[in-house]
Amino acid sequence: MTSGQNTIEIVVIGNELLNGTTLDTNSHWISKRLVRLGAIVTRKTTVRDDLGEISEAFSAAIGRTPSWIFSLGGLGPTYDDMTLKGLSRAVKRPIQRNIRALKIIRESRERRVLSGAKLPMRITQATLKMADLPRGSIPLRNSVGTAPGVLTITGSAKVISLPGVPREMKAIFVEEVQRVMKRELPKFGKIEKWFRTSGITESAIAPYIGKLMKEYSPLIYIKSHPVGFKNRVSILEFQISATYRLDEELKSKKILSEATTELIAVSKKLGGKVDPIR
Ligand code: ATP
Ligand code: MG
Repeated sequence: MTSGQNTIEIVVIGNELLNGTTLDTNSHWISKRLVRLGAIVTRKTTVRDDLGEISEAFSAAIGRTPSWIFSLGGLGPTYDDMTLKGLSRAVKRPIQRNIRALKIIRESRERRVLSGAKLPMRITQATLKMADLPRGSIPLRNSVGTAPGVLTITGSAKVISLPGVPREMKAIFVEEVQRVMKRELPKFGKIEKWFRTSGITESAIAPYIGKLMKEYSPLIYIKSHPVGFKNRVSILEFQISATYRLDEELKSKKILSEATTELIAVSKKLGGKVDPIR
């Protein structure tokens, strides 16, 4: 399953990432942060700077109904930056000049002039292109560059497009995106149970752990920790944990107890002595 309240797909755009010129560090950086916020990154697609391929990648991602899609790259002023055109095709909304995006671009220009940059008197057509967004999209402030990030809400997904320049991608994510995601992603809780056995080896119990993991996946995770030998008797510690959505806390605690009881029963059947730890 790739759909769900906390699932995310990433679409990375750029010839340079496919031909070996540039290592795609952006998607690695962003995946790490998204997972930390409680999301599950279900797929990453990398495509060339090609309008058909970009819009196809967006359409396919939207079709899998993740709750968020991040696109990275291709927001700049040059002819090969066509992410928003591709997105506009995929969501069937025409490109329009966006007044708020224009304001963000003007502000970035003022900042650059103030810091001593020599810019043409008038904003160029190429710069204005960065204010052309799919109809209804919301621009996201870029505090270190010109191209605004873009939020486009489709039927089931929120699409966030960020520039390819790593510094700009990171700034928009940290300053504009992270806070919203923290608020909107479902909150998760984690519980654990531990017990200790003496008299059984890890290999003896391994097949039973495998069977229980299958039975209780994906909610429950069982980990055995071999502690060593005491008077030539094998000591193991078991950690049984569940990560659950807060609205499923009671149900998850019940399932965790069930799995623990089963594992204790198996340990005893194999001749182990069982003691609680904490
Ligand atoms: P902007 O919208 O700010 O112009 P862009 O989306 O047009 O950015 P590109 O022109 O594709 O960005 O790339 C700008 C720089 O960022 C290049 O040096 C490129 O190699 C680098 N870059 C692009 N994508 C990535 C990535 N996924 N990981 C690391 N570096 C990247
Ligand atoms: Mg590019």
